[in-house]
Amino acid sequence: MSRPARVALAAVSLAGCAPTPDYVDHYTSTRATCGFARHRGASPTPGVDTPSYPSRACVDAVHQDFGVDADAFVRADQLDSAYGHVEGSPQARNTRHELILMNARALLTMDLGTLGDLRASPKLTREFLEELEAVSDATDTRDTAGLLYNFAASVITRTIPANRQGSRASYNADDETLRISSPVKDDTIVGTVLVHESRHRWGGHGVCPWNPEKSCDPDATGAYGFGMSAKVIVLRHTEDPDIVAELDQGIHKLTGMIASFNDDEGHRLPRFARSGPEPAP
Ligand SMILES: [Zn+2]
Repeated sequence: MSRPARVALAAVSLAGCAPTPDYVDHYTSTRATCGFARHRGASPTPGVDTPSYPSRACVDAVHQDFGVDADAFVRADQLDSAYGHVEGSPQARNTRHELILMNARALLTMDLGTLGDLRASPKLTREFLEELEAVSDATDTRDTAGLLYNFAASVITRTIPANRQGSRASYNADDETLRISSPVKDDTIVGTVLVHESRHRWGGHGVCPWNPEKSCDPDATGAYGFGMSAKVIVLRHTEDPDIVAELDQGIHKLTGMIASFNDDEGHRLPRFARSGPEPAP
């Protein structure tokens, strides 16, 4: 398919309410600035080999990529500086600021193969692949981790701390701003929250047909499906059994938030009933 046709299709398929963003390659220069060693998927455990930012320049580059308001995070998290990770300060841990740094870092360190590998995958939705193709065309990147990073860094132009009950992070398409409300928790950080939140540029969640109190997407083309697709990719490139188990569990949980994966009463359809990498249209 020619590029204009594909881009137009991607824009239409992602709810048709926002044009394709101006995708920019932030990844190549930030990765060079940070100089992280790359490792296969999410092994070794992210977070364990911290303090993880080798230089202030690296932190500055990530801040710039995601429009992070460093002063606001320092105030909100009561930090001495935004460079606690560089200095190994325990104060920097478990903060809202850490959530953006660690998710960005995950995408900068993981080797997730190339776009060519993804094209061969029957488990990823057409919408997800088309968006990554658009990122690839615009940024001349083939590296999957780079595509995910550039997707998120192009959509999120500003990142600020917030205090929203029941929300870890929320993206608002009107001001292109990511608001981070809760500190990072001890679960696996693989950068997928950035992919999920960026998908909100094209719309939010609905409610589950079987429970109007709970949020669901109608199918795998929404933010839950995008985040799940990213988890599936990381899972395929990760060997650490603890991380594999956690990703597996996370993916299974997400299948419960996608209506088309469940029957009218919210029971998982047989082919999605077991945990495992199962996103599908
Ligand atoms: Zn969401």
